[in-house]
Amino acid sequence: MARDRSPQCKQCRREGEKLLLKGERCLTDKCGLDRRAYPPGEHGRGRRRKQSEYLTQLREKQKARRYYGVLEGQFRNYYEAAARQPGVTGENLLRLLELRLDNVVYRLGFGASRRQARQLVRHGHFTVNGRKVNIPSYRVKTDDVIAAVLDSEGLKAVVEDATDLTASVPAWLQADHDNMVGKVLRQPERTDIDIPVQESLIVELYSK
Ligand code: SF4
Repeated sequence: MARDRSPQCKQCRREGEKLLLKGERCLTDKCGLDRRAYPPGEHGRGRRRKQSEYLTQLREKQKARRYYGVLEGQFRNYYEAAARQPGVTGENLLRLLELRLDNVVYRLGFGASRRQARQLVRHGHFTVNGRKVNIPSYRVKTDDVIAAVLDSEGLKAVVEDATDLTASVPAWLQADHDNMVGKVLRQPERTDIDIPVQESLIVELYSK
């Protein structure tokens, strides 16, 4: 299954923003953007970025894509699915991304980052409604129950190690960290999604 393997700190440096892709490390002085606050590449330090409407829209799209760790083609598919739904396309887009199983596992605090959550899902450490699901893009629905598979001490240690008990769980989800179980209470609203992107710019980009 294809996934974005590009170095995460480089992605932040490209966007000029902390995308918090590495969990706790992002909050320490080891943050790559704090250390090198200029774009990656040979000419990254000296070059002045030209600004244009297109570039602003492109950067917003890349930022959203990088937050959720999806590839270009997958992101486009999400946009097209969002455009087919009733309502505001930009909000639909973020909702669809938010409902990915790897994101939900991360939001529940069962992974320190989306990349780690994705790896746990891919390795079969989670069930949805009692059935093992190892597809990170699996779209969860209201009332779905997501549970960690704890059928061996080894697995228990892996998932417990990844779990961030300090994570603040959004209002549309419910987490029981003692039993490593979570539930989708409702569909997320835009106000529930703390991703700092202007989704309207992404819609403008794709509408051209
Ligand atoms: Fe981005 Fe800093 Fe985290 Fe690296 S450590 S992913 S630069 S926020």
